Amino acid sequence: MLDILACPIDKYYPLDLFELASKGDVVEQGVLYCNRCMRFYPIIDEIPVLLPDELREKQKDIEFLQKWQQLPEKVIKQGKPWHL
Ligand SMILES: [Zn+2]
Repeated sequence: MLDILACPIDKYYPLDLFELASKGDVVEQGVLYCNRCMRFYPIIDEIPVLLPDELREKQKDIEFLQKWQQLPEKVIKQGKPWHL
């Protein structure tokens, strides 16, 4: 399923997947990352949250990044629309 997801901003795909917690083949927590526009999209409770910037909640995204500091630096320190 993740193979067909595209970035909502520039339609780029495939998105990079970083797994944070998984059960079997199911990614429960993770991040999808667009190599074109550098945006990250959280996967929360198995649901990829692919929202345009104006519908994202900055505080929630920041808390997500703070919780998962093992994510690559390009997500934590340079990801868009915001980063730590
Ligand atoms: Zn993109």
